[in-house]
Amino acid sequence: MSARPRPPDPGLLGGVEAGGTKFVCVVGCGPGPVLAEARIATTTPAETLGRAVEFFRSAERMHGTCAAFGIASFGPLDLDPASPTWGRLTRTPKPGWEGANLAAPLRDAFGAPVAIDTDVNGAGLAEALWGAGRDVACLVYVTVGTGIGGGVIYRQAPLHGLSHPEMGHIRVPRHPGDTTFAGVCPFHGDCLEGLASGPAGLARWGAPLETLRADHPAWDVLGFYLAHLCAAATMMLSPHMIVMGGGVMKSPPLLASVRSWLPRILAGYPRSPRLEGSLDEYIQPPTLGDRAGALGALALAAEAFKRASR
Ligand code: ZN
Repeated sequence: MSARPRPPDPGLLGGVEAGGTKFVCVVGCGPGPVLAEARIATTTPAETLGRAVEFFRSAERMHGTCAAFGIASFGPLDLDPASPTWGRLTRTPKPGWEGANLAAPLRDAFGAPVAIDTDVNGAGLAEALWGAGRDVACLVYVTVGTGIGGGVIYRQAPLHGLSHPEMGHIRVPRHPGDTTFAGVCPFHGDCLEGLASGPAGLARWGAPLETLRADHPAWDVLGFYLAHLCAAATMMLSPHMIVMGGGVMKSPPLLASVRSWLPRILAGYPRSPRLEGSLDEYIQPPTLGDRAGALGALALAAEAFKRASR
């Protein structure tokens, strides 16, 4: 049996983790240590992106040419390649950034392939290429923090349709002990994000979630809601694995609570060895940890290179 052809090694890649307060720009070869890094305050689009281009010019002089660039950004984004506004932020409350074109400055400055996606899809792709999901075809990545986001990585590419999935805004049943809290989502009130994000926890229990004790009832309530997202993802997408990251998920009682609620919600259907027992394999924390953002951007760059090499 002959080996399948492999794309050439891209070598150096450039990545931008675009956040509402800072842009982290990195140059690296993939999951290894980054060769150069800069943190740029998010001011105006022209200034911030101009400084990012300057950083990559200087890094290329030092380390060599980047084969492709990846941008893992806050959203919402236009990700339809056929759209005239591809690569732009759409509706964002961040002043001056609505409609900002994040992809064009890098593409115009370097003439290399550029991929752009949400920070959630970037982190999910990094886990699929280099982390917990290396050996599976279908991975769902969920982040729980200031908001709740979810992405689907199928055969090492993020799933897109009209735009990117918005799993944080699904409706979930109310926990029997949490029937009166109105929720904090400005669009839907008590959608999942309105009930189980960091700000929802602060509004509901009056303290940051990471300060709550392991036996606080919050973990049971939040685990119930997030397990309903896992149940919906299981029914609709049949993933091999759900990776759950983000600041709120760093509290150990929460992952245990999700793993405890999910079998009760699924009630024995569907059946799979992965859905039985401790669920340690099925619901996992990210293995790339705090490097997920930067590695997500580099993973998108790797994907852009692969696409351009076909
Ligand atoms: Zn909502």
